[in-house]
Amino acid sequence: MNIRATVWMRRAIIGVAAVSSPLFSRFAAAKEPAKAFERPKLAVVVVFDQFRSDYLTRWRDLYGTDGLRRLMHDGAWFQNCHYPYATTVTAAGHASIHTGCSPNTHGIVGNSWYDRGMKRSITSVYSPLHRRVPARGSRASAAPIRLLAPTLADALKTATGGKARVVSLSFKDRSAVLPGGKKPDACYWFDASTGEFVTSTYYQADPHPWVREFNASRAVDRWFGKTWDRLRGDVKYERFSGPDNVANEWTGYGQGRTFPHPMGKPARKPGRQYYDAMMNSPFGNELLLELVKRAVVAEKLGSRDVPDLLCVSFSSNDLVGHAWGPDSQEVMDTTLRTDLIVRDLLAFLDKQVGKGRYVLAMTADHGVCPMPEISRMKGKDARRYDLRRIRRDVEKQLRAAIPSKKPLVEAVSGVDVYLNQRELKSRGVESRRAERLLAGFLKKQPGILTAYTRTQLMGRIPETDKLGRQVQRSFFPARSGDVTVVVKPYCLLGWRDTGTTHGSPHEYDTHVPLLFFGAGIPAGIHKQAVTPLAVATVLARRLGIKPPAKANAGIPAGLFPAEKRPAGR
Ligand SMILES: [Zn+2]
Repeated sequence: MNIRATVWMRRAIIGVAAVSSPLFSRFAAAKEPAKAFERPKLAVVVVFDQFRSDYLTRWRDLYGTDGLRRLMHDGAWFQNCHYPYATTVTAAGHASIHTGCSPNTHGIVGNSWYDRGMKRSITSVYSPLHRRVPARGSRASAAPIRLLAPTLADALKTATGGKARVVSLSFKDRSAVLPGGKKPDACYWFDASTGEFVTSTYYQADPHPWVREFNASRAVDRWFGKTWDRLRGDVKYERFSGPDNVANEWTGYGQGRTFPHPMGKPARKPGRQYYDAMMNSPFGNELLLELVKRAVVAEKLGSRDVPDLLCVSFSSNDLVGHAWGPDSQEVMDTTLRTDLIVRDLLAFLDKQVGKGRYVLAMTADHGVCPMPEISRMKGKDARRYDLRRIRRDVEKQLRAAIPSKKPLVEAVSGVDVYLNQRELKSRGVESRRAERLLAGFLKKQPGILTAYTRTQLMGRIPETDKLGRQVQRSFFPARSGDVTVVVKPYCLLGWRDTGTTHGSPHEYDTHVPLLFFGAGIPAGIHKQAVTPLAVATVLARRLGIKPPAKANAGIPAGLFPAEKRPAGR
């Protein structure tokens, strides 16, 4: 065992003792009075899209000491962090992390939902009023117009009279737009049709010079024609994950099921397929990290008299996870490379902003369901169910109960089913009756664990119905369906027969890492139940500002044990 590992073990033991024994914490507090810490110059929120809590421990022995393990050793590590709501998807996750509240408050119920007025599905950041920047065609672009709660970024802007600088970057539009709040100074995401980072006219008319230069450098094309192979030639991946070739893995964008994965071939020059493949490989994260470094330098983040905020969301983990599944060698390899991303980011911030002068939170927007084929090998009743067939079947049953020539199911979006309210009205059928019938039929469908009606979700759900409470926290009346279904554990509802997904209230989707690190964060391991919504409140506390107005997550008990609250508050 090396010295570092011994120190780590001792820290872990102290960490556990400090939270489990009041005697010990009193002793520790007496011996080490609360140290004054410098107000951080910069807060950083790092999200890895689709990163399950067990990834931290599953491959820990393969991580270096300066990346994820540095956060685990020197930071506050919350090992029992779960999303409190049911629809565990990217947009809901990012909105919740940054506002400190659930979708029933901030309104971002999914990546997209059915808009009854427009009679179609819209994304969480879709804005018909804004265009892509730099300009290209007349397609609508993205803006935070559907986010109904302020983010940490908004709270910081308010507290500093607009002086704090906010930068939000990701590959996905929703993962940059939602964290950035109403008035970020820079908000960029990736356009896979051109390989450029873009923003929208909601933010500004022209890209920042540092983004223009980055796009012009074509750093994005660096991996074209190369292959993605395993990072560690000295490690037998199969021992730590599973076999490389598993039935029902997806083949990506001409990438195949097994290593090495070609990048962009057989095209002669970089184009759509290559940019998609790049995002669907760990290289997407590497590219984003380069842009992040440029942003910190160009915007001089962490160098002035008020603190700044940097929001980064790395998307490639999610795409790789969807394609090959959490037990694949591809996800293992992407996670080992994620460790290097964290190492490089921390080393860069140490140099650029200064050790102990920034505070950082690391979490994920959701976990992921194992591939049903893998779960079945472990004896679980895991299957893929065709959502289109289920829709056809319940429509038939519903029309047998309520005679109608027109469809009674108007739309299905994710786990939400929307009834044709107009038709019900013209037939004189009460909506709540149709809801009840529909939920009853849905509950009997294969692959569906249970279903909740709008009427139920608008009312009181007993505390004993944990699942119902989770579904209720994902429910927003003007956007959610009339019936919401919950998929059976380890099963997938969809129409694809490859890869896997997330979005359920089950443990594998809700359990994510939560780590705080840096200025004013005592090292320790915490076992109590917390949610990622704590990111907004904890960082606000460290920045010395009020939390975002609708945040309802408290400061986790035991995080700041030595801090005395001023009397009378
Ligand atoms: Zn995803």
